[in-house]
Amino acid sequence: MNKFFFLPLLVLFLFSGCVNKKSYKSNTKVPKNVILLISDGTGLSQISAAYYYKNSEVNYSRFEHIGLITTHSSKEYIPDSAASGTAFSTGEKTYNGGIGILEDSTTVENIIEMASKKGVKAGIVATSSITHATPASFYAHVVDRDYEQKIALQLSNSEIDYFAGGGKKFFKNRLDNNNLYEVLKSNGFGIDTLGLTTFDVIKSHKKQGFLLSDDGMPKMIEGRGDFLSKATLLGIDFLHQNNTPFFLMSEGSQIDWAGHDNDTDYLISELIDFDETIGRVLDFAEQDGETLVIVTSDHETGGFTLAGENYTTKDGNIYSSYTTLDPKFSTGGHSATLIPVFAYGPGAELFFGIYDNTDIFHKIIKLTAWNKK
Ligand SMILES: [Zn+2]
Repeated sequence: MNKFFFLPLLVLFLFSGCVNKKSYKSNTKVPKNVILLISDGTGLSQISAAYYYKNSEVNYSRFEHIGLITTHSSKEYIPDSAASGTAFSTGEKTYNGGIGILEDSTTVENIIEMASKKGVKAGIVATSSITHATPASFYAHVVDRDYEQKIALQLSNSEIDYFAGGGKKFFKNRLDNNNLYEVLKSNGFGIDTLGLTTFDVIKSHKKQGFLLSDDGMPKMIEGRGDFLSKATLLGIDFLHQNNTPFFLMSEGSQIDWAGHDNDTDYLISELIDFDETIGRVLDFAEQDGETLVIVTSDHETGGFTLAGENYTTKDGNIYSSYTTLDPKFSTGGHSATLIPVFAYGPGAELFFGIYDNTDIFHKIIKLTAWNKK
C-alpha cells in the first residue's frame, strides 16, 4: 500500500512548499458570501493528476482545511449527479435522478430559495447545459433529471440572478413551442447567446444569463478556452455589486464526462481548467475576506487511478513501473469512493473531518443562517 500512497503525499508536500499560503485571519466567522465549486466526477486520483500533469502551481495546495464526504444516495451506494446535487442544495437524500425533491417526490426548499429571501443574490455556472443535473439541483424540482425542458422553464422563473453555461435548445426548440428567452426577458434577464461579455455591458441588467452552446459547452481539448473561470469571475462581479451578499455554484461538469469516456487527456485538461478556476476564486476570496469557498465533487467517475505503466521482463513476467505513469479506469460509470472537500475563508474549519454530502448544506446553513425566517 505504501508504494501507492506515499509518493503522491510526498509530491503534494513538496509542491505545497512552493506555494505562498495565506492563513485566513478575520474577526468574523460568519461568511457574507459563499462560493461552491463542484468538479463533477472528481475523486482523489483525478485531483492527484494535477500534481503530475499540470505545468504550473496547483491551486488545491492553497487550502488548509480539508475533509472527506460519503456520497451515497437514498437508495443506491453509488450516487448520480442529481441525488448528490440535491444533497448539496437541500441537505436531503434522494434517489438517483431526483432533483430538489425527497425520495417520496415531495418538493424540498433549496439553499438559493432560502438565501434569496434574505437578500442574497444567486448564480450558477456550468460547462454542461445549465439545465444539467448538478446546476438544476440548485433551482429546479423534478422527479427525473432528464426533464430538461421542464427544468429550463423552472430556471426562467427561479430566484437565480446570474447563470452561464450551455443548453440553448432547451429554451428555444421546445415541445410546448414556448420561447423561454421571452420568459427570461420578462423576468428581468439580459440574455446573451454569443459569448461572455464584460461587467460594464451587463451591470445595468436586473439579472443576466449566458447560453453559449446548444447543449453542453465544448471540451477544453476542442477549444473552450477560459470560459469557466471567466464566467465565474463575471458572476462574482455581477452578484456582488454594491457589496451585496451572494451564493455562487460553479461546476466543472466535464471531468465526469471524461471519466465516463475513460479518456485521460480529456479528463486532465478539464481538471486543470477547474484548478485554474479555483485559483481565480481564491484570489478574489483572499482580497474580499468575507467569502467562504468550498471545493468538492458529487462523486467519482471512472474508477480512475494513477497506475504505473505495465512492462514485461525478459522472463515474461508483467510488472507495473514505478517510474512511468499510465492512468487507468476501472468502470465507465461512477464509483462509491469518499470525496475530498476543501474550504477557505470564514468558517472553513467547520469542513474538517469525515461527514456526509448532505452536511455540506447543513454546515453552510449553520454558518450563514440563511434558513432563518
Ligand atoms: Zn456527477
